[in-house]
This record gives sequence, C-alpha cells and structure tokens, in this order.
Amino acid sequence: MHLDIPTLTFVSLLMGISATLGFTALISVLHNQGVLRIWVASMWIAMVGVMLIGFRNKIPDLFSIVLANALLVTANVLTLKGIAQHVGLAFRWRWPGCFILAYSGCLAWFAYVVPDLSTRLTIGSLQAMAFNLAYAYLLLRYGEPSIRTSCRIAAAVMFMNAGFYLVRVFMPVDPHAGQDIMMAGTPVAATYVVGIIAGMATYFALLQLITERLMVDLRRAAHTDGLTGLLNRSAIVAKGRASLERAAQRGQPFSLIIFDLDYFKQINDRWGHDAGDAVLRHVTTVLREHVHWPGLLASRYGGEEFVLALPDATLEQALAIAERLRQALAHSHARVDHHAIPVTASIGVAAARPGTRFEQLVRQADEAMYRTKFDGRNGVSTANPDDFRFAEVGNSRC
Ligand code: GH3
Ligand code: MG
Ligand code: MG
Repeated sequence: MHLDIPTLTFVSLLMGISATLGFTALISVLHNQGVLRIWVASMWIAMVGVMLIGFRNKIPDLFSIVLANALLVTANVLTLKGIAQHVGLAFRWRWPGCFILAYSGCLAWFAYVVPDLSTRLTIGSLQAMAFNLAYAYLLLRYGEPSIRTSCRIAAAVMFMNAGFYLVRVFMPVDPHAGQDIMMAGTPVAATYVVGIIAGMATYFALLQLITERLMVDLRRAAHTDGLTGLLNRSAIVAKGRASLERAAQRGQPFSLIIFDLDYFKQINDRWGHDAGDAVLRHVTTVLREHVHWPGLLASRYGGEEFVLALPDATLEQALAIAERLRQALAHSHARVDHHAIPVTASIGVAAARPGTRFEQLVRQADEAMYRTKFDGRNGVSTANPDDFRFAEVGNSRC
C-alpha cells in the first residue's frame, strides 16, 4: 500500500469540509446554541489552514507554513473557547492570543531562519497534544453532573487524540524530504490516516456534547416556569409526589405551603400587565432570599399562586417558614418604573399524615389559604384542625 501525503491531505480536506458543512447546517436548526457557532467557526478556520498546507510548493511558504499553522492553532483556541463556554467558564483572549503569536513566530523561525521540517512537525504535534489535553481537562474538571456522560466520552476521545499526537512526535521524517512535508515518507503519511480518524472522532464527540446539553436544556425547560424560573405546575406535582413518597418511606414528615398574592388583579389593572409580571419576579426573589430548606421544591402553581413542598418539615417548621415569608413579602416593595408596589400574600400550610397523597395535601393547603383570604388576607392558616396549637406563630390564624 502506498500512502501519498498530497492525496491524504486532499481526502482529509474533503472529509473536513463535509463535516463542517454538516455542522454549519446544524446552526439553522440549533440557532440558540452559541457554542455550536464557535465550533463551526473553528472548523472553517481549520479547513482554510489545511487547504493552505495542501498548496505547499504552489504558494509562498509564508502562507502554506506560517499562516496555515497560525490558522490551525487559532482553530484549536476557538475549540477551547467553545468547550470552556460549554462547561460554564469565562474565556479571555489575552493569553491564547499571545500563544497564537508565539507559536506562529516559532514556526516562522523554523521555516526561514533555521529551516527544519522535522522540528516543525514536532512543534505542531506537541501543540495539538497540549490542546487535546486541555479540552479533556476542562470537560472532566468542570462538566456539570447533568452533562457528565457526553463530557466523559468527549474527554476519552481527546485523550486518544493527545496520545496519537504524542506518537506522531516520534515518527521519523524521510531524510530526502528536505523542507517538503509532501515528501515526508510513509510513517508521517500513516499519521495522516490516523489524523483523519481522530478528526472524525472529535466531530462526533462535539456532536454528543451538543446533544446532551440540548436534552438537559429541554428537560429543564419542560419543568420550568418561563417567567419566574421556578418549577411549573406539572413539575411540582411529579417531583412532589416522589418526594412525599420518599419521606413516607423514611417515616419523615412532609409539609406543603401554598400562597396566593392579594389583590393581584388590582396591580395589573393599575400598573399594567408587565408590572404584574415584574411583581411575580420580585416575589420569586423574596422567596429565594428567605426560604431555604434542604430538598425544597418551589413552584409557580398558576397565575399568582405558588406552592412550596418541604420534605422532612413538620407543620411547626413549615408554619415558621410561611410566617417568615409572609413578613418578608409584606415588608418588601416591588420596584417597577420608579414605583414601589406593595405586595402581600395569603398563605395556607398543611402537613402530610400517613397515607396522604400529594394532591390531597395541595387541596388541604389550598383550603387553608382560602381561609386566610376569608379572614382578611396577609396571613397564615393551617389545614389540620387538630394542629391548631402549632399555628400560634407570628400573625398566623387558625
Ligand atoms: P385575591 O386577593 O382574592 O387573590 O385577588 P386577586 O386579584 O389576587 O385574584 P384574582 O383571581 O381575581 O386575579 C388574579 C389575577 O392574576 C388575574 C390574572 O389576570 C392575573 N394573572 C394571572 N397570571 C398572570 C401573569 O402571568 N402575569 C400577570 N401580570 N398577571 C397574571
Ligand atoms: Mg390573588
Ligand atoms: Mg389566585
């Protein structure tokens, strides 16, 4: 078998361009995936770099060596930026920018001052190896648990790529090649074949990262209320049922709080619907600031009604939390367009008894909440008449 480097360069270019076109087309479907755009930019830049290398001996070395390698390392930096963004890290260009300049200068040195093809190949391989190790490190170190599977698969691919580039450092260059990489000989040509496979594996690894992120985003969106970022109604019911079941199995208590904003329609009527939305977000902020409980499930159950599920909380503890929240809301004002809009809530609290289903608990807390409305609003009531004595906290009513 004869491995011809110009042919292999051409094949790798064609495969790279096909994959890059595929990724580019994907942007039109996944247009909100900013990371995909970064990786597509990286791929096109790498393609131009490979193309310039393919024109070795036909265009000046400044383009086919210095510029081509500068483009390849820029593509790697962009891939790194995409991976950093994917795992939620900030990326600054200063040091990578310096590295691109230093690397290009180094290659220019070994192209013009001390022409040495073998050293250039070694430097290129070490650079690619370092980037693959950096990709793998970021994925393994910073990939959040929800996207860990794809991060681990991609990191495994990057480690294999790094191993491949390490082996390439030791590949002998044909002594008759001079400065012409196209004549570097069969061992170097063999690395081109492995390089094509490594490139394909990298594309699939990136696709997997995007796919898992997408799945996580979709799952999260299906569970989340768009306005407040809290759980939505179907999510609190599903998660609440499971949480109540776990508490029951462990013989632990489980309580539930419902609160409904008072005279919310008047806020909408007086200040407008957008102001009403701002008040709902303000309430969410107050809720996040004042209610902390392990395993808390917080949701916007509908309109201006919120449900909090408190695993392992007794009625007494839930009442204390409800009262703290009531006071925090009553003492806060939603700031909308330089206006301070007062907010109060009517709260109902219920604790599960053996065999209580989640929906029953919601109904009991809802009845208690309506009792608070009936009693004049801005208060806390409890559902279970037997538990009256627990309700004597703060402004609570029974
Ligand atoms: P009460 O004290 O008895 O609870 O009176 P209320 O005015 O709060 O209750 P009512 O059920 O009469 O009105 C609730 C209003 O909430 C009616 C509806 O237009 C408004 N609403 C429901 N969802 C949203 C929303 O997402 N944004 C805004 N701005 N308003 C909403
Ligand atoms: Mg209301
Ligand atoms: Mg309501």
